[in-house]
Amino acid sequence: MQKNRFTGKIRTDPWETLAVGPPEAMVSLWEEFLQDTLGAPKKSARFRVLRREIETAAGFQEACRNWRRMPPEERGRFWRQLMETCRHILEETREVCVRCGECCEKGSPTLLLADLPLLQQEVLKWEEIVTLPRGEQVLSREGRPQILGEERLKIREIPGTRQCWFYVAATRSCRIYEQRPEQCRRQQCWQEPPPPEAEEFLNRRHLLQAVPEVWELITAHAERCDRKRVREAVMGLLRGDETASEPLFEALHFDHYLRQMLTGDWGLPAAATDLLLGRPLPVFLGSLGLKAVLTPEGVFRLEIKESCSQPGTAPDAGLVLG
Ligand code: SF4
Ligand code: SF4
Repeated sequence: MQKNRFTGKIRTDPWETLAVGPPEAMVSLWEEFLQDTLGAPKKSARFRVLRREIETAAGFQEACRNWRRMPPEERGRFWRQLMETCRHILEETREVCVRCGECCEKGSPTLLLADLPLLQQEVLKWEEIVTLPRGEQVLSREGRPQILGEERLKIREIPGTRQCWFYVAATRSCRIYEQRPEQCRRQQCWQEPPPPEAEEFLNRRHLLQAVPEVWELITAHAERCDRKRVREAVMGLLRGDETASEPLFEALHFDHYLRQMLTGDWGLPAAATDLLLGRPLPVFLGSLGLKAVLTPEGVFRLEIKESCSQPGTAPDAGLVLG
C-alpha cells in the first residue's frame, strides 16, 4: 500500500494537504478560504459568528477529531460538504446582520425621530440618553474630531468604554434588540449605510418643548452655557485675556447649580440631567484641556490638565458620534 506523505507546504498543493496532511493544516486552509470569501478580518466578530455557524452545521469539530483516521476519500467528502455549507450560509447572510455585536462595541446609536415611540413606551429612559448640544466636541466613528453643528441625542455609553449602554458583552447581545433604535436597524457593516437626512434627527425640542417649565430651563442653559461661547472664552483665557474668565465662571456656576436644583429639588436622577442639559460643563472643559475644581466654598477654580500639551484643542476621546 502506498504510504501517505505530507510535505508541510500547504499552499503548494492544497489537495495533497487535505488528502494526507494533519488536521492543523486543514484548519489553516479553511481559515484562509473563509477569510478570502468573507472579506472580513479573522479577528472580527462577524467572522467568528459565521465561522461558528458554518462549522456547527458541517460537523467540523467531529471531522477535526477523526481527521487522522479518515481516508483521503472521506476527507474529500467532508471538505466538499464544508464548502457547500459555507456557500449556503454565506449566501443567506450576505447582507444580513448576524448580531455579532461588533458595532455595539464601537459606539451607541444617535436617536432619530423614528425612535420617539421608544421614549413614549419607556423602552428608553431619560437617564439612558445623553444630549450632545450644538458646539460639542466629538469623535466620528472613524476617529475624526469634529464640532457638532446641530444638536444630537444619543444612547449613553458604558463608562470607560465605547460600548452602547444596552450591550451585554458577556453574551454579545442587546438588551432591547426587538425594540432597538432606528440607527441600529439601518446598520450595515458590509457596506456604508446611507446617512440619515438632517430633518430625521431627534432633539430636545421634539421631546420637551411642550413642557414649559422644563423647556425654559433648557433654553436658559443653552444660552448661558453655549459651547461655542465657552470654547471662545477658554481660548481667550489661554491667550491671557482676563475678561474671558467672567463669562466662563458664570457658565460653570449656572451649569452646576442648575443640576443641583434638578436633582435636589426636582428629585431627578443625576444621569437624567445629561439629557436635559448635556454633559456637565466641567466635563466639556476637560475635553478642552482644562480642569474645573469645585472648592469647599462652592466656587470653581480652573487648572490646566497635566496630560494636555495643547489646551483648547484636545478632542474628547470618550464621546463618539454614532
Ligand atoms: S451590523 Fe453590527 S452586529 Fe450586525 S453583523 Fe454587522 S457588525 Fe455585527
Ligand atoms: S441599542 Fe442594541 S443593537 Fe443598538 S447599539 Fe445598542 S446594543 Fe447594539
